[in-house]
Amino acid sequence: MPDFNDAEAAYESKTNPELIRAMLSFGLCQIPILVRYSERLLKLGRKIVGDTITDGILKQTLFGHFCAGEDEKQILPAIHKLEKAGIGSILDFAAEDDGEGDDGDDGDRSKKEKIADEIIQDKSPKVRVYDYESEAKCDRHVETFHKCIRDVADLGKDGYAAIKVTALTNPKLLERMSRAIVEAQNLFAKFDENGDGIVTKDEFKHGFNLFFKGEDAMLNDALDHLQLADGSVDYITWSMLLTPSDLPRLTAGCREVGPLSLAAPTDEEIELMERMFERGHELARQAAEVGTRLLIDAEQARFQPAIDNFVLNLQRTYNATGVSEFPVIYNTYQCYLKDVPDRLRTDVERSERFDYHFGAKLVRGAYMESERALAKSLGFPSPIQDTIQDTHDCYNNSVDFLLKHAIQSDKTCELMLATHNQESIEKAIHSMNEHGVNRKDPTICFGQLFGMSDNLTFNLGRHGYRAYKYVPYGEVKMVMPYLIRRANENSSIASGAAQELRMIQNELKRRVRGRRTVAG
Ligand SMILES: Cc1cc2nc3c(=O)[nH]c(=O)nc-3n(C[C@H](O)[C@H](O)[C@H](O)COP(=O)(O)OP(=O)(O)OC[C@H]3O[C@@H](n4cnc5c(N)ncnc54)[C@H](O)[C@@H]3O)c2cc1C
Repeated sequence: MPDFNDAEAAYESKTNPELIRAMLSFGLCQIPILVRYSERLLKLGRKIVGDTITDGILKQTLFGHFCAGEDEKQILPAIHKLEKAGIGSILDFAAEDDGEGDDGDDGDRSKKEKIADEIIQDKSPKVRVYDYESEAKCDRHVETFHKCIRDVADLGKDGYAAIKVTALTNPKLLERMSRAIVEAQNLFAKFDENGDGIVTKDEFKHGFNLFFKGEDAMLNDALDHLQLADGSVDYITWSMLLTPSDLPRLTAGCREVGPLSLAAPTDEEIELMERMFERGHELARQAAEVGTRLLIDAEQARFQPAIDNFVLNLQRTYNATGVSEFPVIYNTYQCYLKDVPDRLRTDVERSERFDYHFGAKLVRGAYMESERALAKSLGFPSPIQDTIQDTHDCYNNSVDFLLKHAIQSDKTCELMLATHNQESIEKAIHSMNEHGVNRKDPTICFGQLFGMSDNLTFNLGRHGYRAYKYVPYGEVKMVMPYLIRRANENSSIASGAAQELRMIQNELKRRVRGRRTVAG
């Protein structure tokens, strides 16, 4: 077991000024008022002293510590340093657009309230939402991701690149798509009269006639589409075959306007979805060609059904056993969500049935506060686990489940433990030893964020485990949501940040003492 308290090994590659900047950054994160109002303070700073000075201050502090640079060239020194320490880099273009728009002129109403209003009132997005600018921006993001995938391949084999689906389309569209997917899931439950998880041909016919006024040709078309002609369908196949683009055809025959017909996408939305899928396929194709694994980040729950559907589509093509020997596409599972164990089991089973390799990145989840607040404002039950211990249990059980599956399956199953939680890493190492999984085996690797938990990454790397750093980059202004999340994450005394701060201070003291001894 690596010694995760070995500060000398953890910070070996950091210069003294870098350690001082790290100390300053973690120190700032421990000032609650700064973290709480960071977004407003930065906006104010930009107004008063301008962008250049604000960006300059950020580069000397949070940006300089948590991001590797503004573009692919600037991040190279950081990547080479990691490489020297036996640590791989996961390039992560961290520019974000959360689809919440600019709330600057909207008085006291919070972003969450506005989102909640839209969801409650079912305000279908109008053409104005999907303007040329957002599509052009997505095309520019695709170019950046292409470069990122190429750069990873140039660094050597077995590399990873991370992408966010909200960068490939307008997030509003993902929200609409997600609702369509959830309604298609609800339809399954309505057709499954006896609740046994299987819709038979008779149940389908009955449900169809109850909810739709379609002619025989339409019913037969639907039966064919769901491969029900002479059998039954379970949820795994149903969710694979009934996509949001199928809904308008189906809902044209709805007996009455309900949530399903309201969720059906418009022609324009279908066109934009297709464009998003094209972008995804372009990137996945390139990743498969150069042998880079593509990690698809998990985001807010209101986008996640659409993201899962997108990932599933790519996995089926690029992870297929006849196409690749390993999973090119990884999905991300946020273990703070109550539904993760079920989703994980369903997705694993689907990969077995449809013959493709399975790749998963396991995280605890970065949007807990906003998810809880949004659910509360909508009057929905929170999707988040009730206690932190439930999240820890879900995380550790998911690791065990996937490790066991990897050993049993005749296909490849790979997992990345993306976590700063030492206990989860130690438990995983115990399980690896128990199941005889070699530390160099591609089945399992460990990932931490750049600028965080160097004691874990560098000590894992030093002991020959497959250790990686997520290396975020992007223009200062564009990575602000990422930086604010990092500041929040490192703000509590209970977080690993306090321990990290102590380790950095000790290492600096050790270096000063060492210099005195040499000098004296
Ligand atoms: C390499 C890497 C990639 C990542 N990619 C993503 C991504 O794609 N999507 C994403 O959302 N996040 C991502 N994250 C961030 C991650 O989800 C966490 O925010 C962060 O890593 C802290 O989790 P931890 O496992 O280190 O856990 P710890 O620090 O041990 O636990 C903190 C986490 O536990 C959960 N938690 C805290 N309090 C409670 C509570 N009261 N009840 C229930 N749960 C609670 C929260 O998720 C919180 O973040 C990534 C992290 C890493 C290291």
